[in-house]
Amino acid sequence: MIKEMREQLIYKYGINDKVLDLYEKALNDVKNQFEFLDEIREFNQLKVLNAMQEERISESHFTNSSGYGYGDIGRDSLDKVYARIFNAESALVRPHFVNGTHALGAALFGVLRPGDTMLSVCGEPYDTLHGVIGINKEEHIGSLKEFGVNYKQIEFTQDGKPDLKKIKETLEKDETIKLVHIQRSTGYGWRRALFISDIEDIIKCVKNVREHIVCFVDNCYGEFIDKVEPTDVGADLVAGSLIKNIGGGIAPAGGYIAGKKDYVEQASYRLTIPGIGGECGATFGVMRSMYQGLFFAPHVSMEALKGAIFCARIMELSGFEVLPKYNEKRSDIIQAIKFNDKEKLIEFCKGIQIGSPVDSFVQCEPWAMPGYDDKVIMAAGAFVQGASIELSADAPIRDPYIAYLQGGLTFDHAKIGILVALSRILK
Ligand SMILES: *Cc1c(COP(=O)(O)O)cnc(C)c1O
Repeated sequence: MIKEMREQLIYKYGINDKVLDLYEKALNDVKNQFEFLDEIREFNQLKVLNAMQEERISESHFTNSSGYGYGDIGRDSLDKVYARIFNAESALVRPHFVNGTHALGAALFGVLRPGDTMLSVCGEPYDTLHGVIGINKEEHIGSLKEFGVNYKQIEFTQDGKPDLKKIKETLEKDETIKLVHIQRSTGYGWRRALFISDIEDIIKCVKNVREHIVCFVDNCYGEFIDKVEPTDVGADLVAGSLIKNIGGGIAPAGGYIAGKKDYVEQASYRLTIPGIGGECGATFGVMRSMYQGLFFAPHVSMEALKGAIFCARIMELSGFEVLPKYNEKRSDIIQAIKFNDKEKLIEFCKGIQIGSPVDSFVQCEPWAMPGYDDKVIMAAGAFVQGASIELSADAPIRDPYIAYLQGGLTFDHAKIGILVALSRILK
């Protein structure tokens, strides 16, 4: 860090020498981790470039349709570009998905029918899916449960691995299981993300029992962290959010689904309606941003990952338990930090907000967010509201007070934001 930078950080944010020394040490420790990430990034950039070239993307694809949106070639070609990147038969990429939960929900409602059973093999799914599935709630109007879709879940083994033996047994016993739900990222849990190889093991195990069971992956936060995606190792269907990795920080909203043609089509009937599917939907001039964001995504995802790795090291050096550790392999961009202290957790999140380019002057507070059971604090001073590919930290307010940090359009910003946040709790 140059002298001028140090002076500015002390003057502007009151960051003390102790924190700045931790910065130097942490940065030095993590450097060696980055070479590998740069190679993955390079490869994924090539993958995106190739897909755009194969589909002959040009200015005319940056369409601005209205009304029904028939024949929107920008929209239809982006589906094909995504399908190539995911090595999948088909994809549905839409600004009309209001978030990742909506895309995941459309996929689940698309595939599952009354009497079918959905089996989660990663324990409890991400919080916002509870309402979709209809678990742990007296009120579940409109949920899969209300439509007569059953739900079961299998926990991880003691050492945090998918319980393949239990999965096999459960599938053999229950013929109604139609879909296996695999969540790649940690969500608000204290576990590492599933590697592509774990996902492959699960899929092999499932397909060995019954070939036609749909292997569905919640791919949120996982895109471009590895050189392959779950669809490369046999996933039938994946879904995610465009204001996370794959939107590159540029896409203004949306979600995607990719996989087998029939399943993607069934999901499209839940985004719109049977008979219409993906053939309608005006795109209101957002296609250029969706293409450009995708183009940036391999780079931006790795900037975010570097931020997470740096965060892991500096927080660990500051005496906090982190998951994963800085030198452990990763499969998503999430960094969990255990505070064991409500005030420290809230202060840390407030610090991330104060270190943001947008809304840096506001104090974020825990609130009862739609879709979550506990109060949640979310620091996201982002250009796109709530975009967690931008530097952000969020936490459900519950013991043991774990913050989940992710994003950072630039590694430099991630470092500064984390310094500001840390200095608030090391005063
Ligand atoms: C972010 C996320 C989702 C979807 O959340 P949205 O806020 O609706 O986009 C689903 N699953 C996981 C694991 C996630 O991280």
